[in-house]
Amino acid sequence: MAYVQHVLDKLGRQYPGDQEFLQAIREVLPTLRPVLDARYEKCRILERMVEPERVIAFRVDWVDDKGEVQVNRGFRVQFNSALGPYKGGLRFHPSVNMGLLKFLGFEQIFKNSLTGLAIGGGKGGADFDPKGKSDMEVMRFCQAFMSELHRHIGATIDVPAGDIGVGGREIGYMYGQYKHLTKLYEGVLTGKNLLFGGSLARTEATGYGLVYFADDMLKDRGQGLEGKICTVSGSGNVAIYCCEKLWQLGARPVTVSDSQGMIHDPDGIKVDVLKQVKEVERARLTRYAELVPGAKHIPVAQYPAGRNAVWSIPCFAAFPCATQNELNHEDAKELIKNGCACIAEGANMPSTLEAVDAILEAKLAYGPAKAANAGGVATSQLEMAQNASMQHWSFEQVDGQLKRIMANIYNNAATTAKEFKQPGNLVLGANIAGFRKVAEAMIAQGIC
Ligand code: NDP
Repeated sequence: MAYVQHVLDKLGRQYPGDQEFLQAIREVLPTLRPVLDARYEKCRILERMVEPERVIAFRVDWVDDKGEVQVNRGFRVQFNSALGPYKGGLRFHPSVNMGLLKFLGFEQIFKNSLTGLAIGGGKGGADFDPKGKSDMEVMRFCQAFMSELHRHIGATIDVPAGDIGVGGREIGYMYGQYKHLTKLYEGVLTGKNLLFGGSLARTEATGYGLVYFADDMLKDRGQGLEGKICTVSGSGNVAIYCCEKLWQLGARPVTVSDSQGMIHDPDGIKVDVLKQVKEVERARLTRYAELVPGAKHIPVAQYPAGRNAVWSIPCFAAFPCATQNELNHEDAKELIKNGCACIAEGANMPSTLEAVDAILEAKLAYGPAKAANAGGVATSQLEMAQNASMQHWSFEQVDGQLKRIMANIYNNAATTAKEFKQPGNLVLGANIAGFRKVAEAMIAQGIC
């Protein structure tokens, strides 16, 4: 369709350096062709949807433990508020730049729409690396970051959460600074400590939701996870709770990884040891291999060139939970060759476009990130609801709602895929289902 091509060409010219953003757009826009009628084109809905409502970039000055001044770059992309306040995580990682956050913010619009909850799309972060920093350095950075960000957010305006490099500790420091500057004790951030407005089951939500989604997909095909070997990449928040839920459903996760290497533990990843290493000691995965006899650590230097060694371990289901583009075409082909039946994405856009094509062609049960990892943001919205009503719900209440939301997302994506004569194609189903709601809300709210 000429309209889609026109928008893709224009964006390619406008943002040639924003590779991840262009990749995300190239994945989504072509799948929307069946719904893009003359009304949408007249309203310029695609041009409006790919352009953030607002981007904020700012300098973050802070002082390290040696008394030296450090300067970082902070960002918030307020992408789309048609369905509710901007909602999306903050990422602290040296690779953060505006293009990366635009990709994440764009994905977030569709993901948040799919949850069925009243949340718009946004994303933010900084090129700050919390690794190797002392607690006090992390605190000073978070305070400096919030000293600017607080002007742009609020409980009904924009509600950030965590992402890579931003966990409970960082959210706590940022929340303290927001309160200090504004005098407001409100649900402006999610992923908070239970002592000051956090929700039970938020920590677990993305990983648990991911496995619920995979289970729903597999049940629809008459399959299940029980007794099955699974591979997981990453070893952060999403990966840890993905492993935990896999065990609970009777599956056996045998790998985890980080940016320096992977662990292969054929007996199954010991989640208590993993939590001790990553959440308590904040150590590297080599420590896991020291603590667990029989577990093997394979450093990145020993991976085959251009490959992620996690995906060469034979498995029934694979769960990429580390970062974008961590599963390429060769990885996908090897997974398929080794009999993998299911890939569910915990990380955002972990598979390259070529990998996605290969996975769809092989007709695997494939849960694309914007559907499969939406449990985190959905539970963040449940945290917002608890904050607004000054209530605390039980773990079972929140987990029960998470499970229902993931089932609804799966059904919505699967039904939409069937409606457009591509049963099983949850990429198309999730994109169209997410898009329609946002597009209709934008049109109903007029041009402003
Ligand atoms: P964490 O910071 O808790 O963990 C990230 C993990 O991924 C770490 O093990 C990290 O290893 C690894 N990783 C990061 N960058 C790379 C890289 N370039 N190569 C290899 N490994 C890497 O983050 P989360 O678990 O929160 O997030 C993981 C993914 O899930 C991200 O894509 C995020 O956007 C997505 N996500 C997270 C949600 C949440 O609720 N937290 C919600 C929805 C999606 P190392 O320590 O060596 O850097």
